[in-house]
Amino acid sequence: MKKTASFCLILALVLTACACGSREKTDTKTFFLMDTFLSITLYGEADASLYSEVNSIVSAIEAKASRTLTTSEVYAFNHADDGYTFSDEMAMLIERALAMSEATGGAYDITVAPLVELWNIKEATQPVREEAVAEALTKVGYQQLTLSGNTLTKIDPDVTLDLGSLAKGYALEKAKHYLEEQNAVGILNFGGNVALVGAKSDGSPWRVSLRDPFSADRTKGQLSLTAGVVSVSGDYERYFEADGVRYHHIISPFDGYPVQGVHSVAVCSSDALEADMLSTALFVMGQASAAAFYESGMYEFEYIMTLSQDETIVSEGLDGVYTE
Ligand code: AMP
Ligand code: MG
Repeated sequence: MKKTASFCLILALVLTACACGSREKTDTKTFFLMDTFLSITLYGEADASLYSEVNSIVSAIEAKASRTLTTSEVYAFNHADDGYTFSDEMAMLIERALAMSEATGGAYDITVAPLVELWNIKEATQPVREEAVAEALTKVGYQQLTLSGNTLTKIDPDVTLDLGSLAKGYALEKAKHYLEEQNAVGILNFGGNVALVGAKSDGSPWRVSLRDPFSADRTKGQLSLTAGVVSVSGDYERYFEADGVRYHHIISPFDGYPVQGVHSVAVCSSDALEADMLSTALFVMGQASAAAFYESGMYEFEYIMTLSQDETIVSEGLDGVYTE
């Protein structure tokens, strides 16, 4: 059922994007990788090899970054007592993630893995015990990590990584570059991370519709963009409800619980890896900290944050770009 929900998100975004402007022929292929649906829509007579190459790009990243595949680099680190020497590519990702943790005061933290495992949102139907949350929290903290060259060491052997907040974004960045090199034109949607590839022949902007966090089959707001990426983090992607509370997959490293008070965050950026990290980070930070972070100018992005049915924060740079 949850897969169906994600698929609706993909369709909502992509169909809206394709329906506007150009009448050129398009073709869409969908894969299930990284535990999510990836959709690739290309304009014109796109060669089949473009789709299969994107599939290979994403599969290669998943093979290194997965927490559950026993042959991955992340798995090796998570099962090592003190540290592990990563490939250049993975070390770069970890470096960028650690910088994001510093910049966000720890709201973004790839060591949330013990909490992600504990909550097991995909299968759970009931909240976990308070003592178990407290226990898992003792194993969380990016300050436990030191990256020296490609070697990541940990002080506490129980510290583990979860790159679920950035892997799709990074894969999207690589896929986008590859397709641009091939002069392809289209739109990619990797589980709520959308990239606009090239420019439409009639010069019209791409339209990206955002899903209404309160209704799976409705959109709420539309972005009109000529380039870049949009990454969305939402509490409707993976969740269960108990006693009127929605328990979902974005977890506060401060108290160990799924973040309440925010329902979705969309980030517009020119960098898909950054956008993916930022949408998760801003979600955890909440309204006030996210606004201050945006004002600081530390990262270049725009955002839309849904707080309730009637309250949506839209950053200044989206004036005339985002309409409801
Ligand atoms: P996204 O859908 O991009 O917001 O990523 C959500 C995923 O990131 C979750 O499924 C977890 O694997 C991981 N995650 C959850 N909370 C955090 C957090 N506070 N910092 C970094 N990663 C997180
Ligand atoms: Mg993310």
